[in-house]
Amino acid sequence: MSYEDRTLVCRDCGNAFIFTAGEQEFYSQRGFLNDPVRCPTCRSERKQARANGSNAAPRRNVPRK
Ligand SMILES: [Zn+2]
Repeated sequence: MSYEDRTLVCRDCGNAFIFTAGEQEFYSQRGFLNDPVRCPTCRSERKQARANGSNAAPRRNVPRK
């Protein structure tokens, strides 16, 4: 099976990001069945929030609906 770079949309910030072929291979090797839902920026932000001992996602300036 071969992989191709794919463009995904971040669930948190709505920005498009690339899910590269290499990352897809890495994911499948790790047994992750789902595509990533967040861009690398949001992922690292959430990681940092956890490291700071907070369970809540960081507050953002997202317009309310
Ligand atoms: Zn994002």
